[in-house]
Amino acid sequence: MNQIGHYINGEAVTGRGERNRAVFNPATGFQNAQLNLATVKEVEEAVQVATDALPAWAATPPVRRARIMMKFLQLLNENIDELALLISQEHGKVLDDAKGEVTRGIEVVEFACGIPHLLKGEYNENVGTRVDSWSVRQPVGVCAGISPFNFPVMVPLWMFPIAIACGNTFIMKPSEKDPSSTLRLAELFSEAGLPAGVFNVVNGDKEAVDTLLQHPAISAVSFVGSTPIARYVQKVGIEHGKRVQALGGAKNHAIIMPDADLDSTVNALMGAAYGSAGERCMAISVAVAVGNIADPLVAALKDRLKDLRVLPGTHPDAEMGPLVTREHLDTVLRFVDSGIREGADLVVDGRHVQNPEHGEGYFMGGCLFDKVTPEMRIYQQEIFGPVLAVVRVDDYEQALELINSHEYGNGTAIFTQEGHAAREFAARVQAGMVGINVPIPVPMAFHSFGGWKGSLFGDHHMHGMEGVRFFTKLKTITSRWQAGSSQSQFSMPTMK
Ligand code: NAD
Repeated sequence: MNQIGHYINGEAVTGRGERNRAVFNPATGFQNAQLNLATVKEVEEAVQVATDALPAWAATPPVRRARIMMKFLQLLNENIDELALLISQEHGKVLDDAKGEVTRGIEVVEFACGIPHLLKGEYNENVGTRVDSWSVRQPVGVCAGISPFNFPVMVPLWMFPIAIACGNTFIMKPSEKDPSSTLRLAELFSEAGLPAGVFNVVNGDKEAVDTLLQHPAISAVSFVGSTPIARYVQKVGIEHGKRVQALGGAKNHAIIMPDADLDSTVNALMGAAYGSAGERCMAISVAVAVGNIADPLVAALKDRLKDLRVLPGTHPDAEMGPLVTREHLDTVLRFVDSGIREGADLVVDGRHVQNPEHGEGYFMGGCLFDKVTPEMRIYQQEIFGPVLAVVRVDDYEQALELINSHEYGNGTAIFTQEGHAAREFAARVQAGMVGINVPIPVPMAFHSFGGWKGSLFGDHHMHGMEGVRFFTKLKTITSRWQAGSSQSQFSMPTMK
């Protein structure tokens, strides 16, 4: 049995903890590996290593940090296939989708390669007589990242490349469900020439997270996961004096206007609702059909769902793979049962779809509910599975009101051919990321990713300049060089 430990001080280390957790291949239900869960002492040792590595790394010129990042970028590109396979074997997602995930992560590394430029401050000559003023961005210190199961490469890459390019050292705590690809990132970063101790990975669960959140040497915590844990991480992190950005769950709505192009909208919804088995924080889980488009929309989705190819992620024909764990599959199936009980119309029932080769895999097919209403649990809560709910409304204002009064506000989209409706939507909708005829509007690495309301706790979004700001402290320097002596001044200094 493959034993998974940690990556500390530039090398893979065996875990010494007494608690283990099985890591499964979701396509077969077979156990792939045994993960050792870090103890408090092991996490503390990793923090010490990162603390010791900090002064030299923070003092390393940004150009030199960027050169290591460029080598890391090259190694990531050379190893996309291997990383995608590692993801698929533990997460279950389709290989092409896994490659897409790695590519979106690589884009953040590309952005981080520009760190000398990104860290440039502002300068004013003569803010007062012979007085100059300028600002610099300095590293915050030792940072920690805690990531969810659904993007084991992309989400860590949202965090640590920017933090490390900014001169910080880092401890990553991946999801215990699919840790191997994140560990591989650490090996590749070392191979790129990163000094030992700058980037460390500890595997663990709540015990490891709590140790990081309470440790006095950690300055900043970047978290992505479910809303209850995001809220908890922000609260405990702040109580212990850290900066925290904590991204939570989602219930992303797409408004389908009566004038939307039906064919392309249905294609977009299929990918956005069922891609990665709906286990994406930007998945569309609610389609709000405005007016008379509802009947043709539901009919077309029903038709397309018949042909959805649910297969192991490594199968060349797969469009959707299994869910991540048996427990998660059971949770999603319970949601479907509750939708039926609450009176929604289950137009397509994917509950009994199985992979014929491996009866033990965590498979289900795509489910489609029609006539879902806001009182239902399947409308209110994040299901995080291949279940699309259609809500019917009379007009655009009702559709907008649904989104704006929902607990979550991560991503959203509108499908229309009318510029005015699209512009109006972008201005008034209460969500952090908005798509116009784009179902999954994940911002590029040089913009920033983040939701509103119950989808993000903290002030900063991920990557882009928001990431640079989160991982740096601003310092503003005012300097005077004048000839001769000066006089005491007891009133508030003003420009003379
Ligand atoms: P999760 O909240 O269960 O776990 C996330 C991380 O928190 C893991 O590393 C886990 O070990 C840790 N954790 C879990 N329970 C904890 C506890 N009680 N105390 C301390 N730490 C704990 O999330 P998940 O199931 O791995 O991922 C799916 C969730 O992540 C979904 O809600 C999804 O919407 C969300 N997500 C959000 C975004 C975003 O950008 N907003 C992106 C991806 C995923």
